[in-house]
Amino acid sequence: MNVCLAIALDGGLGVTAFFAAVVLVFIAARAMNAVGALLKGSISVRESDRIVLSRCLPYYAQLDRTARREFDQRVTDFINDKEFHGRGIEVTREMKLMLAGSAVQVTFGLEPLLLMHFSRIVVYPDQYRNRPQSHLHLGEVNPGMRVIAISWKHFLQGYAEPTDARNVGLHEMAHALWFENRIPNVETGFLSDKILLEWRQLAEDESARIRAGEDRFFREYAATDQAEFFAVAVEYFFEKPVVYRAALPELYECMVQLLGQDPAEMKASSHQDR
Ligand SMILES: [Zn+2]
Repeated sequence: MNVCLAIALDGGLGVTAFFAAVVLVFIAARAMNAVGALLKGSISVRESDRIVLSRCLPYYAQLDRTARREFDQRVTDFINDKEFHGRGIEVTREMKLMLAGSAVQVTFGLEPLLLMHFSRIVVYPDQYRNRPQSHLHLGEVNPGMRVIAISWKHFLQGYAEPTDARNVGLHEMAHALWFENRIPNVETGFLSDKILLEWRQLAEDESARIRAGEDRFFREYAATDQAEFFAVAVEYFFEKPVVYRAALPELYECMVQLLGQDPAEMKASSHQDR
């Protein structure tokens, strides 16, 4: 734009008018895009958002500049793909960034995924009942309703202690990923069937150890079923990757293959850089 204006100053009145018109069209186009984005409720990650992501998500904080650019784009696309609903809580921009960041973390080693079947993110201030008689939930994924629901209090607790392998955000996004892989749409079948078969056998071995009360690595809840095992395994994968790899190397390697990323190596290289 500066170049255009500089040339316009050197030219005659006609040239000035021409460049002024170009500038006006450019400004009008930008304004129309902004209005369109506003009407759709869409956002784009900006500098203040990067500060939020770095402060709140340890995973994001250890990415290099190039990876952050890709992460930002995926966060933008995820937010713009979803409807966010607060039940007794306002869903702020910062909350959207963190929720999206959680989903992007789990899927970052794969082709860009929106978890597109899940069109709505529902946020509760604390644990909640989805029906009067149901037990209290910290979060859930409901493919029938196309909803990912989460208790914000517990979501924050998950990130406040990033190495205890308890993170309800990662847990629910892992459930969404697990379902999305099988729901027929353009994002289906992104997890390798061959590796998944191997993973299922190793997960069953560990579940059997849990049920038998033998020496095991994962917390008891993982043995509920394979969907829960996967969600719990994702929490350990990102929050205790080094000990997970040492305790269950074959299962860990399967997860590296399935998710296309290796948090234990990421941790090692980010420590080396410092
Ligand atoms: Zn679960």
